This record gives sequence, structure tokens and C-alpha cells, in this order.
Amino acid sequence: MNATHNTYEVIIAGGGPAGSTASTLLAQHGHRVLLLEKERHPRFHIGESMMPYIEPVMQRLGIDWGEGNLRKNGADFIDEQSGRQLSFPLQNRYGTYQIERSVFDRKLFENAVGHGVEGHQQEKVLHAECTQSGVEVRTERGVYQGRYFIDASGRSALLGRKRKSIQRLENLGRFALYRHFQVGHSPEIDAVFATGSIKILLADIGWLWLIPMTGRRFSIGLVVQQDNPRGISRRDLFQRYIDASPLLNTLLKDARPVSEMQVEADFSYINERRYGLRYACCGDAAGFLDPVFSSGVFFAVKTAEFIADRVHLGLLNNAEDDPRLHATDDQMYQTGFRTMQLLIERFYRSRLIHNLVFEADRHPRIKQEVTALLAGDLWQEGNLFQQGLLRGRRGRD
Ligand SMILES: Cc1cc2nc3c(=O)[nH]c(=O)nc-3n(C[C@H](O)[C@H](O)[C@H](O)COP(=O)(O)OP(=O)(O)OC[C@H]3O[C@@H](n4cnc5c(N)ncnc54)[C@H](O)[C@@H]3O)c2cc1C
Repeated sequence: MNATHNTYEVIIAGGGPAGSTASTLLAQHGHRVLLLEKERHPRFHIGESMMPYIEPVMQRLGIDWGEGNLRKNGADFIDEQSGRQLSFPLQNRYGTYQIERSVFDRKLFENAVGHGVEGHQQEKVLHAECTQSGVEVRTERGVYQGRYFIDASGRSALLGRKRKSIQRLENLGRFALYRHFQVGHSPEIDAVFATGSIKILLADIGWLWLIPMTGRRFSIGLVVQQDNPRGISRRDLFQRYIDASPLLNTLLKDARPVSEMQVEADFSYINERRYGLRYACCGDAAGFLDPVFSSGVFFAVKTAEFIADRVHLGLLNNAEDDPRLHATDDQMYQTGFRTMQLLIERFYRSRLIHNLVFEADRHPRIKQEVTALLAGDLWQEGNLFQQGLLRGRRGRD
């Protein structure tokens, strides 16, 4: 390879939502960016339910998801045992969608390339060395030099796992089982597609999700809050909880599975070293939370935005070697991440669920404030529920 072509301002590992977003924004700022993705798009990825507040970032990327995708009106929390149900409407200032991730991630990656990013697929990053003088990234195919490195490698968390800075977060879901299904038409199925809402079904060992998607597909998953119960395979466990749900039984009566059941374990964590000398981690490489409130893609594109804008300023002012470059933005990230983590913890404490979720209609202000958080509006002043949550006040919940 020609050495002059191996030098970039920013090198990014991982072409998922975080890496593609960061690279596009940096290219828009006028920087030379290399985006390295180990797989080839389109590739399967779980996580199809979006939050409205990804929309301002999508607008900056020049992407409109309105065409051909299913609008997500909200989130329905359902306790089939007691028959209680509450809907949080999520179409506020921004609309949002349920989007198959192979489609979503491919479009983001291609959009990055369209903005001038040099995107390499099927090229795995093996090692990144960040020193005072610059960055050297080694892949299966070559060695690249740069001024800055962004780790957007998702749950592989390239830097975090190498440096052993991944801290597991307790009290949330432990593992997830999931599968896609093709469905036909029935009044019940059509009603799900009419609202486009995600359904969260409470279960004694955790919760199930049902996400409708374009092409009459359902993404169905079970998140378990304990270790695998003894004496039952994960496949049987998944089936048992689908069978136990009257709603899922009705909706899946003539459904055809279109993917294998998959497992995602070692769930929630935070990377304690998210930034430093000439590097920053975004998306799942920075932290991952149980997906009950569909916050993953939001944090991926939002952290990518924080990092890209800050790295741009660093490069402009020759200050990209400041190890504290991201200190201010990281405070913001921590506020958002912590808020969502606390909300999820509340969700799992069964005694609190009913107050937080099912009784929310009786407390309009709380419902409005929780809805704002579920939309991704995490940095507004004046959200009293959020302030109480962060101060550790138990309040009504
Ligand atoms: C069970 C489950 C359900 C979920 N449901 C939702 C949901 O409904 N809504 C939601 O918003 N989020 C959901 N999430 C979370 C969401 O999928 C992630 O938060 C999101 O994909 C993070 O984006 P990312 O770009 O950081 O990582 P990823 O999307 O994982 O992208 C990382 C990319 O890096 C590549 N890569 C990895 N290592 C290397 C390497 N060494 N070199 C080069 N490339 C590399 C990978 O191939 C991948 O393409 C869910 C997650 C799970 C596990």
C-alpha cells in the first residue's frame, strides 16, 4: 500500500451507527477519515426500535427515515397477569421509526462514504496505539497512521476489553434471547402495525419485547434478569415465555421464523476509560444498557456526535492531544447514561414498576417527564422526575 494513502486525521474502528455517524460528521467538518468495519453490510444486528431524539442527529447526517419505514408511535407496557397496560406516546417534536438494523446500519455506512469517508469493509482492527505523537492502527490488511482514534467497535469494546476497563452493571437484565418472524394479516396483527408501537410485556423473569417492522416482520425477544434457570435450554426458555403470553400466541399463530434464535449475554456495562490521549470511545464501546427503553442507538449516535464535534475543534486548534478533550461532553454522557440506568433499575424493581409505569396516568407531570426521558430528551433543565432520580430520591416510585 502507498504510505501517503495510509495517513488520516481520524481513524475509526467499527462501522455501526456510532462509527458511521462520527465519521460522517467529521467528514462534513472537512477531515480525512478512515472507517474500518470488520463485517460487510448489510449484516444482521439486533436493536430495531429507535428513540425520537436520534432525529436531530439524522438531520445533520442528511438522512430521512420517513420513506418506507414503520412509524413508531410509542411504547406500550403490558402486564398480562393483571391485565394492566399503559402507553407512552413518543411522537413529540420528532417522529421516530422501527427499522431493521441491516437496513439502518447499511444506509448510515453508505451515507458516510457518500460524504467522503474512506470506508473499508471486512477489515478488522487488531490493535490501536495512541501516543503523544500520533495514532497507529493495525488491521488484518495494513497499518494506518492518524492524529486521532475513535473506538466505535460496539460490544466488542476493542480498547475497553484490552485495557480491562469494562465494569459490569448489576441489577439489570443478564441476557437476551431473540428472533425475527414473518407474519401475515389478522385484525390483531394489523392493529400492531397500525400504531407501530413497541410492546414491552412483563414476565416473572424479566420482560419480552415485540417490535413490528416494515415487510410485516416482528422482532421478538426475551430479556432475563437472572442466570439461566437450571434444567432448561435457552431455546425452550424462549419458547416457554412466548407460549405463556396470550398476546404473543395470538400474534404468532401462523408466523414463520425468519432467523435463528440468538443469544446476547454479559449485558450491561460501562467502560471506565472512555477517552484519553488521542482516543475516545462512543456507542456500545463506551457503555451498554439493558435495552428495555430502546436507548442503545440513541446513545450510539449521540456520543458519536459529541465526540466528532469535539475532535473537530481539537484538530482545528492542534489540541487533539489533550487527554481531557472530552471531559465536558463526558459529564453530559454520564448524566444521560446514569438517568437511563436508574430508570431501568426502577423498571426491574417489581414493587416500583406499577407506580412508575402503570400509575403514571394518574400523575400527568410524572408521565410527561418520563415520556421525555423515554424519547431521549435527557439534557433538559427542569425535568423534576429526572432530578429526583439522579439525586437518589425515591419519591413516588
Ligand atoms: C438484545 C438487544 C436488544 C436491543 N434492542 C435495542 C433497541 O430496540 N433499540 C436500540 O436503540 N438499541 C437496542 N439495542 C442496542 C443497540 O443495538 C446498540 O446499542 C447499538 O447497535 C450500538 O451501536 P454501535 O455503533 O455502538 O455498535 P454496533 O452497532 O454493534 O456496531 C459496531 C460495529 O463495529 C464492528 N466491529 C467490532 N469490532 C471491530 C473491529 N475490531 N474492527 C472493525 N470493526 C469492528 C462490528 O462489526 C459492528 O458493525 C439492543 C441490544 C441488544 C443486545
